[in-house]
Amino acid sequence: MKKLGFGCMRLPLINPEDPTSVDIEQFSKMIDTFIENGFTYFDTAYPYHQKQSELFVKKALVERYPRDSYTLADKLPVPFMKVKEDAQKIFYEQLEKCGVEYFDYYLLHSLNRNHYQTALKFDCFEFIKKMKEEGKIKEIGFSFHDTADILDQILTEHPEMDFVQLQINYLDWNSDSVQSKLCYETAVKHGKKVVIMEPVKGGSLVRVPEDVKTKLFNLDNSLSVASWAIRFAASLKNVRVVLSGMSNLEQLYDNISYMKEFKPLTQEENKFLIQLGDQIRTSIAIPCTACNYCTPGCPKNICIPEYFNLYNKRKQTLSKGKSNEYDNLKNEHGKPLDCIECGQCERVCPQKLPIICNLKKVAEEFE
Ligand code: SF4
Ligand code: SF4
Repeated sequence: MKKLGFGCMRLPLINPEDPTSVDIEQFSKMIDTFIENGFTYFDTAYPYHQKQSELFVKKALVERYPRDSYTLADKLPVPFMKVKEDAQKIFYEQLEKCGVEYFDYYLLHSLNRNHYQTALKFDCFEFIKKMKEEGKIKEIGFSFHDTADILDQILTEHPEMDFVQLQINYLDWNSDSVQSKLCYETAVKHGKKVVIMEPVKGGSLVRVPEDVKTKLFNLDNSLSVASWAIRFAASLKNVRVVLSGMSNLEQLYDNISYMKEFKPLTQEENKFLIQLGDQIRTSIAIPCTACNYCTPGCPKNICIPEYFNLYNKRKQTLSKGKSNEYDNLKNEHGKPLDCIECGQCERVCPQKLPIICNLKKVAEEFE
């Protein structure tokens, strides 16, 4: 299998403000190009695009290609489960939404120390094993956002898992909270195949500071900034596929240009990127990946990742004063100061960000 997977959480949009306005024509063209170039892996999930991603995958992929010409991964939304019966209900709903009779890969979504307990409480491991036995899933696994000791515990207690999906990128490689390196080594220790998510950390490794961009162009000016991040992830042994959440044809063409005939990084390049990652990490004020897990449940409709993105841009450019972009966000969504500190967002944030405190910083900066 080629090592680039199509992540369906940031699909092309007609209206950038509306995550359900997926540009089906462009998405279909992206799929055609992806498949024509020999790539086969697609990854979706229940909450992506406000629960519409699976429907768009059905329309653009499943209804247009034979079932054996691609592989499809989907996920059980453990963090949103209320009762044990949700597992079966949601799983069958997902099969129908995607228009398939089986999933090639099925994951327990976003496990961490708390959601692992939810998965145990609702017998989620038993459920996906049963679906595998019945032929409705080919391989089972889980996506993971926590420290390596928790990953070690889950893999020790559940050796039946076929693979794990980890957040790995050169920015988080040595990070104390994400622990990309330690998590990767833990998966290898347990003999698991690894699927990599967030290789460009929600765009943070595309929108790098100017001095970092110059350093990367000096290495090879024919390669894009993003290419270094994707190739860093794909160069790791034991990696089955690296997911890229491509949002337009341009990003797709770029990814294909270096992943079609993939050439791993040299040891020197690898070392250089890790050092660069350590440098960039200190320059990002709020390390949000714009996954949007926090927004649907916010009672005040606060567009948390957009505010964090504005704040990060401001800190990187050292600009000051009034911001029209900020005013526009405030007009269309809740304001940072509307936050009632209910904590819903912090409970689901895979990056474990202190969102409430960060929103206060945003307000202080822009108000
Ligand atoms: S803590 Fe604030 S930002 Fe988070 S969900 Fe509650 S109201 Fe929204
Ligand atoms: S704050 Fe956390 S949950 Fe919300 S978009 Fe950023 S990383 Fe995702």
